[in-house]
Amino acid sequence: MSAMDNRRILMIDDNESIHEDFRKIFLSGASADEELEDLRGAFLGAESTSETTPTYDLEFALQGQDGWQKACQAVESGCPFAMAFVDGRMPPGWDGIKTIQHLWDADPDLQVVICTAYSDYSLEEIIEHLGNSDRLLILKKPFDPVEVRQLANALTEKWNLMRKTRAQLDNLEKNNSVLLKAQQVAEAASQAKSDFLANMSHEIRTPMTAILGHVDLIRDGDATEGEREAYYDIIRSSGQHLLDIINDILDVSKIEAGRVQINASPASIRELASSVVTLLGVRAQEVGLSLDVDVDPSVPEWLELDAMRVRQVLLNLAGNGLKFTDQGGVSIRIRSASKGQDVRLEVEVEDTGIGIPVDQQPHIFEAFNQGDNSSTRKAGGTGLGLTISKHLTNLMGGDIRMRSTPGNGSIFTATFDVALASPPAAEVEPEVPAPLPRAPREPEVRTDSPVNPVDVDSIRLHGRVLLAEDTPLNQALVSAYLRKAGAEVSIAENGQRAIEMIEGAEQQDRGFDLVLMDMQMPVLDGYGAVRQLRSRGYTGKIIALTAHAMEGDREKCIDAGCDDYATKPLNRLEFLTLCRASIDSTETLSG
Ligand code: ADP
Repeated sequence: MSAMDNRRILMIDDNESIHEDFRKIFLSGASADEELEDLRGAFLGAESTSETTPTYDLEFALQGQDGWQKACQAVESGCPFAMAFVDGRMPPGWDGIKTIQHLWDADPDLQVVICTAYSDYSLEEIIEHLGNSDRLLILKKPFDPVEVRQLANALTEKWNLMRKTRAQLDNLEKNNSVLLKAQQVAEAASQAKSDFLANMSHEIRTPMTAILGHVDLIRDGDATEGEREAYYDIIRSSGQHLLDIINDILDVSKIEAGRVQINASPASIRELASSVVTLLGVRAQEVGLSLDVDVDPSVPEWLELDAMRVRQVLLNLAGNGLKFTDQGGVSIRIRSASKGQDVRLEVEVEDTGIGIPVDQQPHIFEAFNQGDNSSTRKAGGTGLGLTISKHLTNLMGGDIRMRSTPGNGSIFTATFDVALASPPAAEVEPEVPAPLPRAPREPEVRTDSPVNPVDVDSIRLHGRVLLAEDTPLNQALVSAYLRKAGAEVSIAENGQRAIEMIEGAEQQDRGFDLVLMDMQMPVLDGYGAVRQLRSRGYTGKIIALTAHAMEGDREKCIDAGCDDYATKPLNRLEFLTLCRASIDSTETLSG
């Protein structure tokens, strides 16, 4: 029994001598035990304790109403009674049943013993009025003192246990909701992992398609020297892209595991910035964009910084600027301010590009966030660059902020807290990272059958094929497959264009025999295009091409209205076999 237990008892009876009896029952019980305890204490030489006997706190009322008021006050003051003994008859006021009904209104937890004489209510009548409640016991007069004390003991104990159970249940509920939140967090993490895998699967399959396909084209042996050169370039740039993806993934996993360390050494931010401009300048020139850098004269010449990581951030921001800009260009501005003994370096990268939609701005630094899908897809990337850059600036005591106006360009500002450095003893070149040496990898063994040129050559496609595909590399590859097999190929660079070309051809009675529809395209994607075509009554054959090869993707394509489905990287033999089967079935139907 705890010291906090509630032993408060309310006794309501119109007969004062009964009050006296109760006082004696409880007091004599306690004092008898105390005497025994005292004897034992004297015998054992210990201090007397009377903890084994509960000490009751008794209150008395002569009338039901009076008792009810006491119960109300007790609840209000936060010290409710654990139980009440209520006389069955108390003229002229409320009788026992009415009193108990009021008591329970005031305090639903109150345990009650109704004390009745034979002439009072029958058991059935009591139950009829008060319900079959476990809060109620019936005690017949005349009382047996032991019975009264046992009732008090059991019912106050019951009240206390009930309160404890309730508190524990509340606790459990709280714990449950903590667990539920933890579960939600875990589920969100698992969803993020699935999204990651789906994303990576897509990002890796796209350059893979180009590599495997162009190797097959070279192996055919009938490419001209010029074509072969072009195929080699494609294979190389796709391989490089795969490497970038792998490096990004490694970076993210290292950052998440807290294994990235900042290694600062004296470096010149001017030389670092100009190396970035040299590297990206070629790309900028190719696409007709300007790229300039302005370093404020007050920026100290030598700073203690991790040149490799600062450069990585700068390359990401400026590279993004170029990726997402069609006209104008990218400007890099570098300033500094003193921050105590140190220097706060501020690198601002402004572009005149497409900007970032307002609803996407809060998520732009989250891993695998690729903003607006269509423009990103056109530009390529892993959706990891900004996450990595933000982590790196954080590790260097700074941060990245972004301001962007959709349609008008973006400004990314990265800050780094660095220390002033004295020039290195011999002025060596600033630390520019060399590409990491990579362990040679075991050649992968292909388990699917290699393309057999004889079989591939034996497949002839007679008919007009529309290839809807936005990536130039894949346009070149797939159309080369198709043309070599004898098909006449037209190309649409997005879903909208595909619809126009299909409907235009139908009107001229030169409908396509087969449509190959890439599902991820800018302007209107493959799903949208196929749905529109089907809803307008187009019945021609459509095969979906997708770099997504996750569970459920096939169903998604078929649901949109495609007849069949091929995943990238394409297996040339299987792909051409599928195309021929589709064209043949169209001919059989119409013939
Ligand atoms: P990615 O490899 O896809 O470029 P990032 O993490 O670097 O990954 O960028 C995430 C997304 O943020 C991009 O896909 C793009 O949608 C958006 N974004 C980043 N920089 C810019 C920019 N300068 N202009 C417009 N959008 C941008």
